Amino acid sequence: MGFIDRIRAFFGWSKQEIEIKAMINLILFGPPGSGKGTQAAKLVEKYNFLHISTGDLFRYEMGNDTPLGLKAKSFIEKGELVPDEITIGMLRNKVEANPEVSGYIFDGFPRTIAQSEALDSLLSSMAKKVDMLVALDVEDEEIVKRILQRGKTSGRADDNDESIIRNRISVYNENTSQVYDYYDAKGVSHKVDGLGSIDDIFQRLCQTIESIS
Ligand code: AMP
Repeated sequence: MGFIDRIRAFFGWSKQEIEIKAMINLILFGPPGSGKGTQAAKLVEKYNFLHISTGDLFRYEMGNDTPLGLKAKSFIEKGELVPDEITIGMLRNKVEANPEVSGYIFDGFPRTIAQSEALDSLLSSMAKKVDMLVALDVEDEEIVKRILQRGKTSGRADDNDESIIRNRISVYNENTSQVYDYYDAKGVSHKVDGLGSIDDIFQRLCQTIESIS
């Protein structure tokens, strides 16, 4: 019997309970193109989070020409933030539709202080909280290069135009980076070097996550 199985037997926990006890709610943070989507997919595989990406949710809505998608499109096309009330409502629906998961990984949300406050109150109404924010640290010029490269295959209009990409980066620097400080004041923000191979960055992320859970 392995170590974990012995602990499980000792406490009488099921395998699922062990997972739940280990789960946290995590914000995967960082500028556009910092690798959040790639790393989120790997974290989901390892830790069994529910991955919620507001960018992906908007792209799904736009792909289906829904009223929400049509509203979001004009902002996304310019590299601007979709207004808080639209974004928060969409996020809330997704979280409330999946209350039983053992942990969420939020990717691309929150991007404003109002979104951070809305997330905190939503989670607290479910007796949960943001346990950790991990920011992938990548400098601006590297990001422009990465997004232009991704644009060759992503099919995203906002990945193919350098002026839109630069606008997304300045929106991040001017509005979104404050979210890091908001959670830093609560003692849960961490930085991880976002340069290097996908696997190296993943190792750093896992070490950071496991250091608190
Ligand atoms: P992403 O895939 O996270 O880079 O998001 C693509 C675009 O969707 C962003 O440039 C914004 O226009 C919009 N978007 C995604 N998440 C949010 C959010 N939390 N708040 C406002 N706009 C968002």
